[in-house]
Amino acid sequence: MKLTKSQREELKRKFDGRCAYCGDDLTDKWHADHLEAVVRDLVTGKPEKPENDVYENLMPACTACNHNKRSMSLESWRDLLAHYRDVQVPRDCSQIRHLMRFGLVEFIKKPVVFYFEQVK
Ligand SMILES: [Zn+2]
Repeated sequence: MKLTKSQREELKRKFDGRCAYCGDDLTDKWHADHLEAVVRDLVTGKPEKPENDVYENLMPACTACNHNKRSMSLESWRDLLAHYRDVQVPRDCSQIRHLMRFGLVEFIKKPVVFYFEQVK
């Protein structure tokens, strides 16, 4: 859906100008993310879930969160973030493993809680 200027400003203020997911302050390049994805066909661009393309389903998101979440459900994205922490980053990043050996980096094993879940 195309937002009006006032809808976009209202959405940006939904969490006091912060990303709904990570809580960072939104810059001028923030995105209106569909909490429940619209899922577009890769060839035609036609939405597979057009019922999700409504204002009430939009969340203000920083570009990093919007790009990382893509069309995942919130629970799938939560699982992916935990997988980065528990498996992928320690396995695939030799610099992180080296920093861990020196006790300079540690991962916090706590549930992944999105900013909007903390402030509601
Ligand atoms: Zn974010």
